Amino acid sequence: KVVVGTKVDHNHVNWVTAYNMLTGIRFCVSRINAKMDRELTDQDFEAKHKFSFDITGNELTPSAKYDFKFKDYSPWVFRHLRTKFGLDPADYLMSLTSKYILSELGSPGKSGSFFYFSRDYKYIIKTIHHGEHRFLRHVLRDYYKHIEDNPNTLISQFYGLHRVKTPFGRKIHFVVMNNLFPPHRDIHQTFDLKGSTIGRDYKEDNLGENPRATLKDLNWLRRDMHLNFGPQKKELFIEQVKRDVALLQKLEIMDYSLLLGIHDLTRGNRDDIRNSALKVFQPGGAESDDIHGHVLQRTPSKMEKARQARELRRVINNEVPISLDRSVANRLPEEFLEQKNTIFYGDDGGFRATHETDEPGDVIYYLGIIDCLTHYGFVKRLEHFWRGLSHPKDQVSAIPPHGYGERFFNFISSIVKSPEEAARDKERRNNE
Ligand code: ATP
Ligand code: CA
Ligand code: CA
Repeated sequence: KVVVGTKVDHNHVNWVTAYNMLTGIRFCVSRINAKMDRELTDQDFEAKHKFSFDITGNELTPSAKYDFKFKDYSPWVFRHLRTKFGLDPADYLMSLTSKYILSELGSPGKSGSFFYFSRDYKYIIKTIHHGEHRFLRHVLRDYYKHIEDNPNTLISQFYGLHRVKTPFGRKIHFVVMNNLFPPHRDIHQTFDLKGSTIGRDYKEDNLGENPRATLKDLNWLRRDMHLNFGPQKKELFIEQVKRDVALLQKLEIMDYSLLLGIHDLTRGNRDDIRNSALKVFQPGGAESDDIHGHVLQRTPSKMEKARQARELRRVINNEVPISLDRSVANRLPEEFLEQKNTIFYGDDGGFRATHETDEPGDVIYYLGIIDCLTHYGFVKRLEHFWRGLSHPKDQVSAIPPHGYGERFFNFISSIVKSPEEAARDKERRNNE
């Protein structure tokens, strides 16, 4: 049985850290939300606020279970960003802190970052390196401006930037961002695409053990896969990727990828792994002791399930175009409603495939551009130098930001084809 994430309970090595992160978020987000809204000022982008938590509490902070220090960065900017991304303030707070359930996806990348999902799987906390943290602060204004000009951006949505410091002085920086993958839909295949071929192969021999592994560019090409969009969605998607890449090039960012989860509507939610993965993270306190260490299932009631199944069937049978019919959306689970205003997250939290006729297809894509905080700096230049010695230049993954963006954009736009177009291309190739 496949389990997504490890439960973070009081026996977990990172339990105290996770507790402190959530306690800090709860305090800082409530604090800023309690204020009257106002326009952003220049200072808001540089602002940082330091808080000290301890067992007794003080005039500023409530008592906490452990001693730790917490820093909140640009709270006004992130409050405005959350609004722009359509988050409900109370809901955000609830998801991240109300029952303190987190699961940890032990470092899935090479970078050493840790990932935590909020209990409802809507949000991801990613620990980041000090360099990434400094970089995000440095480009926050550009990022903000980009979100203003591009409400449908595919770039990771950042909702908060914080730092927690343990009593031993270890500083952990982290961001809160959107989970691209839906809490209520199985993802049947996952790809992380960069447009590079070197080192971009997931050894498929391992697939037996891990059917939900994140596959890469070479696996994608070998399967002759495409992002199946008809003319309308193709244009929207490519245009947005172009704008997003232009920003990433301008900010000299590298190493980002298109994360893509595919939900096959014809398979539906047969293998329900997420419920088994929802584990309890309980940092104690009066309200929590009774469910300490238990697995809390967010399984919907029978009636709820039946209703959802009916809606889904209607969607699969094309009785309702998912993105358009509000009355249906209004009866779907809350997760569904949250992101309905954005184009690429508007079809049940994702972007549904279409045919050449722009009629809906059989899969929903959950996608976005992730890992956008690597600045092309000294380390990358070194890497380029060393790897460039043994590989053809533009195939090396670490090429300067302009070339990286170009290669990324060319690759992504080349794989967008309606199913009909892809079939015609294949036939042509076979005839040659
Ligand atoms: P590296 O630098 O080695 O690539 P990293 O630690 O910076 O790794 P990311 O590339 O940001 O990690 O993400 C690693 C994996 O975590 C992704 O391939 C994906 O499976 C998952 N992941 C990251 N961000 C998201 C997100 N926003 N939504 C869903 N899953 C995500
Ligand atoms: Ca990455
Ligand atoms: Ca990274």
